[in-house]
Amino acid sequence: MVITPGAYIARRREHAGFTVEDVALRIETTPQLALRERVDWLRRIENDVETVSLSTASAMQRVFPLSVDVALQLVDLHSGEALGIEAPRLCRVCACSDLDACVDEHGEGCAWAGADLCTACVPGVADEAVAGASSDPAVAHGKAA
Ligand SMILES: [Zn+2]
Ligand SMILES: [Zn+2]
Repeated sequence: MVITPGAYIARRREHAGFTVEDVALRIETTPQLALRERVDWLRRIENDVETVSLSTASAMQRVFPLSVDVALQLVDLHSGEALGIEAPRLCRVCACSDLDACVDEHGEGCAWAGADLCTACVPGVADEAVAGASSDPAVAHGKAA
């Protein structure tokens, strides 16, 4: 089963190194809420008690990398009203997607290393692919040593 929208948001937030409090400090709400209320509200969204809206997902996207489309797709998938909607392909470690790739320090986006694993989450795999090195990991490791 594909992860819930709340789990997706939590995964992307944690991967970006933000706490719920960090996001609450950076996000604006209408009407204005006190910080503690914003933290509670974000927790309810991450626990799937409250459904994330387009405007909330867009506001979160300005704080940390997140795909609004993926978040809303997951909302639809879990609402049971979205027959025929395909589950988004997500990395099982960082929950990045085709719409929201990891970007390394060289500005390079990640690729798929497996069905549900991106190259940014497989140390060394991205470098070998870029360098066009031997596809045999044993040989590559032998050279390095
Ligand atoms: Zn990943
Ligand atoms: Zn990635």
